[in-house]
Amino acid sequence: MIKNIFGFTLSLIILITIAIALYWQHKKPIPVVIQAGHEGRDTGNTGAASHGTQEVEWNIIVANQVAKKLQSWGIETKRVDAKTPIVKAKVAVAIHFDGAQIPCSSGASVGYQNSASQKLAQKWKQVYKQYFPFKWQKDNFTKNLSNYYAFYTIQAEKFLVLELGEITCKKERRWLKPRLKTIANLIAATIATEFGLHPHIQLK
Ligand SMILES: [Zn+2]
Repeated sequence: MIKNIFGFTLSLIILITIAIALYWQHKKPIPVVIQAGHEGRDTGNTGAASHGTQEVEWNIIVANQVAKKLQSWGIETKRVDAKTPIVKAKVAVAIHFDGAQIPCSSGASVGYQNSASQKLAQKWKQVYKQYFPFKWQKDNFTKNLSNYYAFYTIQAEKFLVLELGEITCKKERRWLKPRLKTIANLIAATIATEFGLHPHIQLK
């Protein structure tokens, strides 16, 4: 009897596991997932801060605007915070600003894991390099970029982690602040090219 119950439970667990795996395999990916880095975190890695500027606040402004723009162009977009759910996506982008021990030693950078993402990263750098007048770091220059924790929960065909600039650098912070929405529009326009759209963004 005990043996039977054990065998039955085991078979049931195996069946459920297979059912979940099949469901996941056939689940349609969400076109775009946008994450605001550190959003919703009170402890742990709560993000960079400098002279009254909280990275997370800027991340939220940018992420909201990226999602709004994409949706206005008819591209289905899901906004998530730092405690990401497990989701499947075609394109995912995490929004961050960097902080550095030595002010003005960092700048902008990109993190990713596969070659499809690397291509999208090149596209983004081409766009942002024409606008952002400060320093760039090499791609994947920190472990937070090359091995971003959400790579494992947001399962995306292409996933970029964007550091959009350094908030611990005074001149950079001052340049970035009034341009957050324009930067968001540039990110949205870059993502839109993945869906065959080529919107034009007015630079301010
Ligand atoms: Zn960050």
